[in-house]
Amino acid sequence: MEDYIVRATAAQGTVRAVAAVTTNMVREARNIHELSPLASVALGRTMTAAALMSTFLKGTKDTLTLQIKGDGPLGGIVVVSDVNANVRGYVHNPLVHLPLNENGRYDVAGAIGKNGYLNVIKDLGLKEPYIGYVKLISGEIAEDITYYFASSEQIPSAVALGVLTNSEDLIQSAGGFIIQLMPDAEESTISNIEQKISTLPSLTKLLSEGKTPEDILELVLGEMNLKIGEKTSCQYKCNCSRERMERGLVSLGKEEIESMIKEQHGAETCCHFCNSKYQFSENDLVSLLENF
Ligand SMILES: [Zn+2]
Repeated sequence: MEDYIVRATAAQGTVRAVAAVTTNMVREARNIHELSPLASVALGRTMTAAALMSTFLKGTKDTLTLQIKGDGPLGGIVVVSDVNANVRGYVHNPLVHLPLNENGRYDVAGAIGKNGYLNVIKDLGLKEPYIGYVKLISGEIAEDITYYFASSEQIPSAVALGVLTNSEDLIQSAGGFIIQLMPDAEESTISNIEQKISTLPSLTKLLSEGKTPEDILELVLGEMNLKIGEKTSCQYKCNCSRERMERGLVSLGKEEIESMIKEQHGAETCCHFCNSKYQFSENDLVSLLENF
């Protein structure tokens, strides 16, 4: 199955929802970064969240960045999505490994650490990007994104993110949903959704049963006049280029480039997001000096 995001509304437009299947995206992230299973789950949840949240962007050049930083052995997570859900990301320690938690699941909260923060950065083409900052409240990511929506955007939300591995620790499926209440949502709608969510099986269980994003939205919102809308693709895609890497080198400053010429007679840069390597010869570096 191809990865995709489906948009929906319910309760006469007073509820908006997005749900996604992101299995291929998470597999790609795992292959690129050679992630441990635990790191795959942590990055996969965050990438799924970014893909879902990218549907709330408006401008064609808008981007969304999720930064999670904690004091656990994973170090941190960075994920960027554009408005078309081209998502890229990395973790600081891709080999992190911890025992399963008391529920027998990957200990994402333990990997991220108790003390930390989530930054949601939206570059909307304005002079300054929008930055929403919240302290981590669980480290399991979905709860932290829910808390971000409540405290920074004042939007009551239900967020579920799941990455399911099989017995060989390979990614079997991944996905998630965000359901949000608009300001005119009625009390009965709110209590209805709360009741549905409280009895909903875990997302990894739903994924293991082969439920599609539409199926999952139907389970929560099916009795609330659910209207399934546009379906769009999402994928792992980096936007790095030689020009971008050149700008990165230039930003290091003239002296740094001069010392690369003198000491290494060239430079190699590597993209954090896709591990692509770019070679710069001594002549390339000399011509970069013309920028100063
Ligand atoms: Zn790249």
